[in-house]
Amino acid sequence: MIDKVSVGTRIASLRKREGYSQAEFSEILHVSPQAISKWETGASLPDIGILLDMSWIFKTSINSILEGDAYIEGAGDVERKYIFLNKILMCPQCRHGLKLQKMHAQNMMYQCDLGHAYSVIDGVLDFNTREIPGELWSLSLRNYDGYLQMQHWPGNPNYRRGRNQADVIWKIIEKERPKVILDMACGMGLGIQKQIERINWPATIIMVDVSHRILKWNQVFYSTERRNPFVDMVYLACDGANLPLMDNSVDMVFSYGGYESMQDKMIEGVREAYRVIKPTGCSVYTKSIVENLQDPNSQRWMHLLLSAVGEEEAQWWKKEFLDEQQWMDTCRAIGFKNNTSTKIYGELPAPDTDTFPFENEMAQWMAEYVFVSSKE
Ligand SMILES: [Zn+2]
Repeated sequence: MIDKVSVGTRIASLRKREGYSQAEFSEILHVSPQAISKWETGASLPDIGILLDMSWIFKTSINSILEGDAYIEGAGDVERKYIFLNKILMCPQCRHGLKLQKMHAQNMMYQCDLGHAYSVIDGVLDFNTREIPGELWSLSLRNYDGYLQMQHWPGNPNYRRGRNQADVIWKIIEKERPKVILDMACGMGLGIQKQIERINWPATIIMVDVSHRILKWNQVFYSTERRNPFVDMVYLACDGANLPLMDNSVDMVFSYGGYESMQDKMIEGVREAYRVIKPTGCSVYTKSIVENLQDPNSQRWMHLLLSAVGEEEAQWWKKEFLDEQQWMDTCRAIGFKNNTSTKIYGELPAPDTDTFPFENEMAQWMAEYVFVSSKE
């Protein structure tokens, strides 16, 4: 959607910059002074022929008149998305701005003024992070065939109960129409995938994960099988708890179970999301959660789980056991002003045995919510 009022404001300021009154400008363009006034107040838009004339008079592009600062033009063989990143990247070591160094599509590098440098490797900007050792899923991603098999794996049915969470999330995204979305701890992008295919406005999606390997395959997948011409895809292999992005640089932080997959860094991840979201923006995310810590069903599950894992893991789970209300309090404490939740499904009924029934995916009994945390 074109913001007519912003376009009008830009036309007025460009006209003044060139030193024309409304009357003079109307004569040059062969239109009535009323037409100029209507465009500049946002009541209507000039037609395409007039826009072309204006772009010559203002010595700028039609896109710049329509989109202002949001419009970024590719330069030479450097894709638009890399020039866009140049505006928002920050060195994760020293927090100075990162600047694109080599304007060449085959050898792209960003560097801060202290000399920390990061390269684009296989289409992924690499901040030298590595996946968590021992994460089983990464073993099947040694090659693209393994990646594709994982993409088509139907998944654990316990995670597919309840209402359609992709639809719940889409309602929020469609309303916000974010231009820049960050997908936190994206993994294979199974959550954002269902949103990407519906986006029908110009948008940039920044996929963030610690694993360079998974992003490398994502880059192939989303540029071939699931390409959406409206969407620029950017891949950052970095620590979600120390994002290489400036404050207030994205409209939305999306996460499909990503925060909790950051394990010990979960809260840091939410805090980083808060930092990089623009004041008008929000984080939209799914999270597995205990429904109510006081509820006997929840208590039974927690007891069974804790008795099934080792001491160290039990300590971690005890921290993880926040219920929905406690989670919202946590988000408020981080700074998010408005926090809402939609239940996708509730907890499974606890079994009447002494043993925890699952050997892996230990959270599959938990409830699932879509949360929206807004900065303002
Ligand atoms: Zn630096």
